[in-house]
Amino acid sequence: MVYPKRAIALLPDHLISQIAAGEVVERPASVVKELVENAVDAGASRITLRLDQGGLARICVEDDGGGIAPEDLSLAVTRHATSKIASLDDLEGVASFGFRGEALAAIASVAQMTVTSRTADAAHATAIENLQGAWQQAPSSGGIGTVIDVRNLFFSTPARRKFLKTEATEFGHCVEALDRQALAAPHITFAVFHNGKAMRSYAATDQAGRIGQVLGGDFVAASTAVEQIGPLSLQGRVNVPTAAKARADSQYFFVNGRAVRDKLLMHAMRMAYEDVLHGALQPNYCLFLAIDPHLVDVNVHPAKAEVRFRDSRSIHGFVSQAVRAALAKTAGTSPKAPTNTPDPASRPGFYPAYQQTPMFANEKSAPYLAFVKEVFDRAVDTGAVTDPKGAAGQSFDPFNRTIEPEASTWPAGKAAPQGETTPLGFALAQVHGVYILAQNQSGLVLVDMHAAHERILYEQLKNALDVRQVESQALLVPIPVALDAQSLEAAQRETDALAELGFAFSAASETQLALRAVPRLLADADPAQLLKDVLREMAASGSSQVIEATRNELLSTMACHAAVRANRTLTLPEMNALLRRMETTERADQCNHGRPTWVQFSMAQLDKLFMRGR
Ligand code: ADP
Ligand code: MG
Repeated sequence: MVYPKRAIALLPDHLISQIAAGEVVERPASVVKELVENAVDAGASRITLRLDQGGLARICVEDDGGGIAPEDLSLAVTRHATSKIASLDDLEGVASFGFRGEALAAIASVAQMTVTSRTADAAHATAIENLQGAWQQAPSSGGIGTVIDVRNLFFSTPARRKFLKTEATEFGHCVEALDRQALAAPHITFAVFHNGKAMRSYAATDQAGRIGQVLGGDFVAASTAVEQIGPLSLQGRVNVPTAAKARADSQYFFVNGRAVRDKLLMHAMRMAYEDVLHGALQPNYCLFLAIDPHLVDVNVHPAKAEVRFRDSRSIHGFVSQAVRAALAKTAGTSPKAPTNTPDPASRPGFYPAYQQTPMFANEKSAPYLAFVKEVFDRAVDTGAVTDPKGAAGQSFDPFNRTIEPEASTWPAGKAAPQGETTPLGFALAQVHGVYILAQNQSGLVLVDMHAAHERILYEQLKNALDVRQVESQALLVPIPVALDAQSLEAAQRETDALAELGFAFSAASETQLALRAVPRLLADADPAQLLKDVLREMAASGSSQVIEATRNELLSTMACHAAVRANRTLTLPEMNALLRRMETTERADQCNHGRPTWVQFSMAQLDKLFMRGR
């Protein structure tokens, strides 16, 4: 194709504005965003948004901020006019929302616009309006503050108008844009009208209050607070993984009060939820990151949705760590870091039930007995049971099976123990080989035993691997494992990584390995099948080393293998051992797939079921 030869010319100003508008003004919601930003910047305490037909017919933003002086009005609607920066240094340290100085000009190039404004020292308001491409200014009436009225958006660019969705959809986007601003500015009162009807209003409040107003009580109830204060601060709320939804409808991230949709931050959030959320589910959150403005560049994106951090790695790490810490609440107790958890396993001569091998197979093994004794002693300590032998500390005979049920349950009529040592309470029974029924201080607890055990094993494997201490257990007789070519190749290639995971093997033939040792934690699983699955995953991931993400997937597969299966009959001490282990395991509230591992029914809830007034 041949283009007619044309002289290079500077684009007419109006066209430049329309091109800029293409970046800034995508749909009514983008206008809402820019206008509300300006109102916030102007120090408003009250902002009212009026929309007609989803904003397509009219978007009007009214504020009671500082206003624009009459002599500045025509400048304000001119491209690259801004009162917010004067130098490059300002640009770097900019703390206000607007700074590109082109929003009003861009909007005016694709819509009819009237700006009416009055400063505190002006005798009356002044209005400026774009009529047939020229600005006309005239005295007007109105209080202190600014009203920006935008009508017939895209009337001059019908191609763009075609891409807009229905009125309801556009209205939804406008509200979403306002909500983002409202979350960042809780001290401002907001009101929204659509086609003359009041749709929404948020009274001035604090940050927590605003989150409740905008995201609703359901979100607040299903979320947990994030509170990391320092030179770098992260505050807000994140939903607990069990309340995650398939849709990412509430993901709010603010950097220095500015709403962003930044890939790095979104990735950091995904990583924070990585272990606790099924891949298809979305976390919901409302988080505020505060950082020295000089360490972040907010200028990289025309609509300022993305930001660039000087040190993106450490921001990424900081965000996912802070959120992970908030999520890592153990069952009914406060978060515990693996390093400072007084793990019974660190005590000499004591093995918690879930580090024993095999876990449930030989009840009479010494570690098992020690564990039963521990549970029993703790029950005595908390007053849950009285020592059947009289004085505590007197020798306890775990072989005496008749006392064990008492040791693990509350005697009838006795009050539930006070204190936080056993938040999940004590087991009463097993339901259809799947659930553990337990009683705690506030009522009834139901535990999905497979899910819970899987989680515990997974966390243990991770911790062990982190400190390179996955113990391996030699098999008395090596087990021959037949493998396909890819798995055999993976076995050769990943011998070191497999050794770190606790596997030892040697070549037995062209198609077989002799498995000699397995991870001690998983000795309960079918060893051949475990190795096959691990190798298949390693072959699929194809990497020369097990990187963290695939590593965790691998550990999750391994944990699932070894976790106690449904329809396995557990004794009460075994059930109690599981409950105690849950209490000291991070993130024990959800299984590796984000499903809950236990639920609590309070006495009040139970009473309600039976319509029993208390
Ligand atoms: P920017 O916000 O990037 O400076 P805009 O085109 O959005 O660019 O606004 C241009 C200027 O108009 C602002 O710098 C500000 O001085 C003035 N202005 C816009 N809206 C308001 C408002 N609601 N109240 C007071 N001043 C405003
Ligand atoms: Mg602006």
